[in-house]
Amino acid sequence: MVIVAGVLALQGDIEEHVQALDRALRELGVDYRIVLVKKVDQLSKIDLITIPGGESTTIGFVSRRTGILDKLKERIENGLPTLGTCAGMVMMAKEVRDAVVGETSQPLLGVMDISVIRNVFGRQRESFEVDLKIPVLGNQPFRAVFIRAPAAVRCWNDAQPLATLRHERYGDLIVMVRQRNMLACAFHPELVLDTRVHRYFICEVAGLVQR
Ligand code: GLN
Repeated sequence: MVIVAGVLALQGDIEEHVQALDRALRELGVDYRIVLVKKVDQLSKIDLITIPGGESTTIGFVSRRTGILDKLKERIENGLPTLGTCAGMVMMAKEVRDAVVGETSQPLLGVMDISVIRNVFGRQRESFEVDLKIPVLGNQPFRAVFIRAPAAVRCWNDAQPLATLRHERYGDLIVMVRQRNMLACAFHPELVLDTRVHRYFICEVAGLVQR
């Protein structure tokens, strides 16, 4: 079987997502193809999708205009394995507000039972990297890059926090969370060479490769 991996290619760090999938799938030794998803009809031809970091309001408006938003929501709700990073996490959340401006009323996929605050760590100059403990990836910490990052303050139903980070105002914030076929990261696993988050997504969340 050839795994067809899609990257939502409307805005954001699309090329980095392609490269990260390429590294992870190559390491797993499977046959695969990566496609840039720009049109709604491509959504029926992929086995998984990743949603890049970038600007969630732009991704939201463009995906709504192209008709991708509704169709992708339906595909994810019907089991399409989906990894969203940073702006991608914002897109997947059912509840979103901005740390500064509050309500954003931006178009969302709204598929994960998480409540997200955008820009919760501050603006661009407050971006940072940290060695994050992610128990499902093993003992070795993961170098997590946070850029104008969101985080979840709450998750419910079967959404499971996989990593948290302490915040002086909000306490423990959820920076990685899984719910069934969906995985969201507040940081950017596509920006480091460590492929463990992507391999976890492909093997455990998507169940497309046996390890
Ligand atoms: N702050 C951005 C947003 O909410 C996300 C930033 C990022 O993806 N690096 O869309």
